[in-house]
Amino acid sequence: MIRPIPAALLALCLAGPAHAEEIGECLFDRDTLTFAGTPLEQATCLLRKIELGAVRKPQPLPPVIVRLMREGGAPSPAMKAAAIAAFPEPYRAYAIQHADAAVSQTEEGLPLLYFVIHDTSTPFYAHEPFPKRLNADWKVNAFTPYMDGTFAKAPVAHIFLNRVGQIWAGHEFQEGWRATKLESRVVGSRARGRFVHIETVQPRRFLPGATSRGQTEGPKPGFTREQYRMLAALYVYTSARAGRWLIPAQHNTVDSTIPDAHDDPQNFDLKAFGKELEKLVGKPKG
Ligand SMILES: [Zn+2]
Repeated sequence: MIRPIPAALLALCLAGPAHAEEIGECLFDRDTLTFAGTPLEQATCLLRKIELGAVRKPQPLPPVIVRLMREGGAPSPAMKAAAIAAFPEPYRAYAIQHADAAVSQTEEGLPLLYFVIHDTSTPFYAHEPFPKRLNADWKVNAFTPYMDGTFAKAPVAHIFLNRVGQIWAGHEFQEGWRATKLESRVVGSRARGRFVHIETVQPRRFLPGATSRGQTEGPKPGFTREQYRMLAALYVYTSARAGRWLIPAQHNTVDSTIPDAHDDPQNFDLKAFGKELEKLVGKPKG
């Protein structure tokens, strides 16, 4: 989700860098820039279901994610090629051009580790209904607001993925970029490069009777099949370039317990993501 910085966060900032400390429900360690536990435990915490009002609930991980987190390693060249082949043009050509480039790392040399899924919460329809043909709506699918400085001077994430599966890269994955409060307001520039950020287009409107941008809902279903396909392809592609299976995460679980944490992604169907991932990396055996 994309919104201006609320005042409460400034206070958090001014509190300044503290001693070693674990942040949020998934216990992010400021020193190691890592959430607590094994990759599987981290993914289990970071992929909890985000319900209305950012209520986080445990949910089972798809078997394919369990396997990748348990076994470790990296995507094979064939998996990487399949991911690239899944991309639509013109992003495919861009992905091929950068396919062998190193991905971001932190200033201390810690490698990229987290693949963070967001929803854009844009366009915002206030008290109006969502468009009837939501997925084909030109305004919903337009990349313009993410490009033209509406939200910030620079694109707020690495990737913008619309509802028909088109992809626009705001930053190449070589570039350390931040899109969570954990990175930008709590840890600071040391965290930059540890996370890649994928903004998935999903509009929002006020919940009945609501007047605050903290009380909004997305459509159901939240994302399209094309978006799950492309999220899976982006996950395999970035993991291949990183030389390791990245740990999938969501904006809200990364920022859990930080004041004014965004509640995205809403209506994210982890099973659907797992299904598309299986198509690229194969089903777990047994
Ligand atoms: Zn977000």
